[in-house]
Amino acid sequence: MERLDQPAAAVRVDGARLWDSLMQLARIGATAKGGVCRLALTDLDRQGRDLFVKWAKEIGCTVRIDAIGNIFARRAGRNDALPPVMTGSHIDTQPTGGKFDGNYGVLAGLEVLRTLDDNGIVTEAPLEVAVWTNEEGSRFVPVMMGSGVYAGAFTLEHALAQKDRDGVSVSEALNAIGYAGKVPAVGQPGAVGAYFEAHIEQGPVLEAHGKTIGVVQGALGQRWYDVTVTGMEAHAGPTPMALRRDALLAAAQLIQAVNRIACEHAPHARGTVGWVDNYPNSRNVIPGRVKLSVDLRAADDATLDALDDKLRAECKALSANGIDVAIEQVVYFAPQPFAPALVEAVRAGAQALGLSSMDAISGAGHDAVYLARIAPAAMIFVPCKDGISHNEIEDADPAHLEAGCNVLLQAMLQRAGGVA
Ligand SMILES: [Zn+2]
Repeated sequence: MERLDQPAAAVRVDGARLWDSLMQLARIGATAKGGVCRLALTDLDRQGRDLFVKWAKEIGCTVRIDAIGNIFARRAGRNDALPPVMTGSHIDTQPTGGKFDGNYGVLAGLEVLRTLDDNGIVTEAPLEVAVWTNEEGSRFVPVMMGSGVYAGAFTLEHALAQKDRDGVSVSEALNAIGYAGKVPAVGQPGAVGAYFEAHIEQGPVLEAHGKTIGVVQGALGQRWYDVTVTGMEAHAGPTPMALRRDALLAAAQLIQAVNRIACEHAPHARGTVGWVDNYPNSRNVIPGRVKLSVDLRAADDATLDALDDKLRAECKALSANGIDVAIEQVVYFAPQPFAPALVEAVRAGAQALGLSSMDAISGAGHDAVYLARIAPAAMIFVPCKDGISHNEIEDADPAHLEAGCNVLLQAMLQRAGGVA
């Protein structure tokens, strides 16, 4: 029952409580440098999950665990047969991770439910906070495992069979921590009414523009390649410059080209060579073979195709004078636009709260990107200090975290309906 003197639009989250919960969760797996190491499905992950479940139950949520260990804390709606308005993220971290990546999205969702509980507000549709298993992909590959299974990107059996470096499978690890749930891990289309995810930006754009809220339009599509440049090893001394088949020299030109190609499609295109293997990597030998990775990203398929064409043309042009450049695409993720109605709910929430905002695009993968395949989805970004994430020094301004959580509250209320 709503309190008549407290219209839902005027309700605000408790920023201090949100911060306090973030700091409590960050103690589980805390590192000496102020970060968090809480790898997926370890005993530390169990402790973090247990804490979330305890907090959810304290405000009357029912909790279910699915077969890939995803946790869903549910707050009943007035019409509990409606598909839930869901939010969530992940609480596993990188080995040298921070306090906010993922954890913020989960605890912002919890804070929304706590706030509704404080104010006696019941929504028409039920609300759920999800904790997705193994988003980081550090201990087990693939990344975004729990949301990927849920969205049907790959099968439960495939995910359960994956092993860490010690030969422990996901299935064994889930059982060991008591989170191998009974509920089927597949979310049917229509099962989720709307999915919002609040997340630190993990990049520098919001901070550079002095904006508090990123209204995320979607996620960049990605093409990953393995490139092999083949030349001929030869002695660095006796071989004149004109007669060399220097594979590393050609690779260097390709690296320059990857950067240039992406710059030609600003602001959203990205081009990165992050891994290089030079053979034989010896001081006085002209390199005979170089393997390198290329990662191209863009907001739409037309741009991604243009980047692909230019990269292949560059490889072809470099294949001359005894140099061969072979390119193979190894990964493709389609660009994933978010649902316009949900994006507008985020924008409207920021405006109603008088917060500065700007359109943003997610350059990284997130659970929301998989959820968008089966449900209307959108994300809310808040700045993180110096744009740094996946680092123990990852930091965020409590006021920004509170603001993003208030936007999440408004957006969820708008989609769940039934409150004035
Ligand atoms: Zn994350």
